[in-house]
Amino acid sequence: MQTTGPTKPPCETTAQPTDNIDVSEKINQAREILRLKYGYSEFRLKQEDIISTLLKGEDALALLPTGGGKSLCYQIPSLVRQGTGVVISPLIALMQDQVDALRQLGIRAAYLNSSQDGATQRQIETQLLRQELDLLYIAPERLLTERLLQQLEQTHIALFAIDEAHCVSQWGHDFRKEYQQLSVLHQRFPHTPRIALTATADERTRREIVAQLNLSNARIFINSFDRPNIHYRINDGNNAREQLWRFINREHPNDAGIVYCLSRRKVESVAEWFNKKGRTALAYHAGLPDAVRQQNQERFLRENGLIIVATIAFGMGIDKPDVRFVAHLNLPKSIEAYYQETGRAGRDQKPANAWMSFGLQDVMTLRHWVEQADADERYKRVSLQKLEAMLGLCEMSSCRRQALLKYFGESLEQRCGNCDNCVSPPEQWDGTVVAQKILSCIVRTGQRFGVGYIIDVLLGNNNERIQRNGHDRISTFGIGTELSGAEWRSVLRQLAAQSYISTDLEGHGSLLLNEKCRPLLRGETRIQFRKTSEKIHAPEKPKQQNINTWDEELLAALKTLRQQLAAEQNVPAYIIFHDQTLIDVAALRPANLTELSRINGIGQQKLDRYGEAVLQQVATHPLPNVLKNNFSNTINETLYLYSRDMDVDAIAQHRDLKPATILGHFAEAIEAGMLQLDDVLQLDEDTVTEILLTAESLQLAADDSLKSLFHAFNGEHDYGVLKCVVAGQLRSR
Ligand code: ADP
Ligand code: ZN
Repeated sequence: MQTTGPTKPPCETTAQPTDNIDVSEKINQAREILRLKYGYSEFRLKQEDIISTLLKGEDALALLPTGGGKSLCYQIPSLVRQGTGVVISPLIALMQDQVDALRQLGIRAAYLNSSQDGATQRQIETQLLRQELDLLYIAPERLLTERLLQQLEQTHIALFAIDEAHCVSQWGHDFRKEYQQLSVLHQRFPHTPRIALTATADERTRREIVAQLNLSNARIFINSFDRPNIHYRINDGNNAREQLWRFINREHPNDAGIVYCLSRRKVESVAEWFNKKGRTALAYHAGLPDAVRQQNQERFLRENGLIIVATIAFGMGIDKPDVRFVAHLNLPKSIEAYYQETGRAGRDQKPANAWMSFGLQDVMTLRHWVEQADADERYKRVSLQKLEAMLGLCEMSSCRRQALLKYFGESLEQRCGNCDNCVSPPEQWDGTVVAQKILSCIVRTGQRFGVGYIIDVLLGNNNERIQRNGHDRISTFGIGTELSGAEWRSVLRQLAAQSYISTDLEGHGSLLLNEKCRPLLRGETRIQFRKTSEKIHAPEKPKQQNINTWDEELLAALKTLRQQLAAEQNVPAYIIFHDQTLIDVAALRPANLTELSRINGIGQQKLDRYGEAVLQQVATHPLPNVLKNNFSNTINETLYLYSRDMDVDAIAQHRDLKPATILGHFAEAIEAGMLQLDDVLQLDEDTVTEILLTAESLQLAADDSLKSLFHAFNGEHDYGVLKCVVAGQLRSR
C-alpha cells in the first residue's frame, strides 16, 4: 500500500495496463483499505467487482443508485494503484466537502477549480507533480485545458473517474458540453483505466455515455436501481400546498427535506410560506446571487431539520445522507428527473418519503414549453415522450415501483408494498359519460375558454360572462352537477394527462380537444379515471432511530461532541460521523479503542483522532447499574425510568401502561436482587408480614398462587404489590 508515506514511490515513465503483482493481492489491499481507512467491514454489492476491474487496468461503467456507494469504487483503486486518481466532477460546490471527508479518513485529497485563487491552484499542481496526492477532483472545463493535460502527462495517474457521467447526454437537464470532450482522456492516456459513474441512466443515456466517452470496451455494472426505503406517493393537485404542509407536519415535523418547484417565483413564495408557518425553509434557484445560494446549500447540509425549497438547479451530487423527504409541488418533466430528485431522499437507507402533488396547469405548462422550445423536432419528440411517460407514472393504479424499475430496464416480480398504490389501491371508475359531458361542453363553447369557465358552465353557475356569451342556453349548461368543481378539475387533469385535451399554443389557457377524443365522444371507447383523494397513508411512521430510551442521553452527548468537532474544523457533521455510527456507539457502549474500532464507519484515522473523546462520553454516561442485566427491553425501560427518579405511577403514566404491569417489572428486579422491596413500595412492616404469612399459609407454589392470595385479601392489595412482596420473600430465602 502506498498511502502511508508522505510521497509515493517513484513513478514509471510509461504506464503499463497490468502490473506484475497479482490482482488478487491488490484486491486484498483494497479490502484492507476498506477496513482500516473507511472502517467498513464489507464491500457492498458490485463494489468489489468494479474495483477489481480497475485494478486489472480495465475500464468500467458503473450505474448504481444514489447512496449505492459509488465513491468507494474509484477512491479505493486510486489508493491501491500507483499515482493519483483524477476525479472529474461538475459539482464545484461539493468538492470541498468531498475532499474534507477524504482528509478525515487520512487520504491525501485535493481539488482544482475556479473557486480557488491562483496561489492555491499552483500549490496543488505542485503537489500533483510531486506525487503527493492520492485523489484530485477537477472540474471538466479545468481538466480540458492544455496546461493541465500536460501536467497530468508528466505525472503518474492511477485512474480517471468521470462522475455524474449522464452529463454527456444532451437529452438530460444536466447536460455539460465539456463532458462530450472527455474522450480526449482515452486518446492521451490510453493505458490509464477509466470509470464512468452515474445514478441515472436509461438505455438511451447509457448508450450515449459509452459512445461519447469512448467506453466500448468498458465492463458495465448495473446495480438494481431500486431504492426500497423510499415510499412513493403521488397526489392530486387540488390545494397542493396545504396538502404538503399537512404531510410534512404529520410525518416530518423535525426532518430535513427538499421541496421542488418549477419556477423561481414559486420557490420564493413557498419558502416564505413555510417560514411563516414556523418551519425554517431556505430558497435555492439560479436567480439568487451565488453567495446566497451557496450559503443556503451549506446551511442545509450542515444544520439539522431544514427544508430547502428549490428549482431543479438544486441537488446534483448532494450527498446529505439524512434527507427524509423529497416533495414535488410540480410535475417533473421526465421519469429520470423524478427518480434522480427523489433519489436524494434516504441515502442512509432508512425510511424516507417521495411525495408529489401536481395539477392540470403543470401538464399544460410543460407540454407548452416543449412545443415552444427552440429546438429541433427530434429533441421535441423525445422530450414529449419523456413527459408522457412521467404522466403515465402519475396516472397508473398499480405498483409505482414496478413501473419505475421497468422504465430503467429492471423487473420487480412482486408489488412493492411501499408505494401509495400498493398501500391503498386507488379506486377506478368509468368516466366515459362524464368525459363526454365535459368534452362536448368544450366543443359547444367553441374551444375558446379555460378551465374555470368550462366548469362554471357544467355546474350551471350563471354569471354575467356566461350570459353575455349565451352559454346559459346551450345544451351542456348545468349538466354536470353530479360532480363538484374540484372533481371536475381532477377529471380535466386526467384527460390532459391522458392526452385527450391540450391548451392553445398562444397560452391563453383555452382548452382544446385532441384527435384522441373522437372515438370517445362517439362511444367507441371508454375511459377510466382514478378516484382522487389525498393520500395521507404512510406505510408506518418512519422510525428515525432504533434506540433504547436509556441510550438517548449518551446519543445526544455524542451528537454534541460531533457538532463541536465539526465546528472546529468547519465541516458538516456527517463527515465526522454518520448518525448510524453514533447510534451504534450508544447502543454498544464500547469500553476501549479496540471495541470502538469494530463499529462500522470508524477507520484508523477517526479512531486516532476522536476515539478517546468518544470513549470519554461513553464513560461519563454510564449505564445505570439496574440496567446491567439480562432482562427484556420493556423491563429495562421501567428500570431506567426508575433510575431517573420516577415512581410507579409516573412510570405507568409515561409508558401508558397499568401500574400493576410496572410493579410486575419491579418484581422481576426484586427477585433478581437488583432492587429491594422498599425501593419501590412504601408498605408498612405489618402489611408485609401479613401478606407473607398469608402467602405461606396458602403454600404458594402453584401458578395461580397470586390469585388465591389476591382473593384471600378480598382484593385489598393490587396484584403488582403482591408480586413484589412475594418476590422479595423469594429472594431472601
Ligand atoms: P453514491 O453512490 O450516492 O455516490 P456514496 O459513495 O456517497 O454513494 O456512498 C453512500 C454512503 O454509503 C456513504 O456514506 C458511504 O461511506 C457508505 N458506504 C459506501 N460503501 C460502503 C460499504 N462497503 N460499507 C458501508 N458503507 C458504505
Ligand atoms: Zn408498490
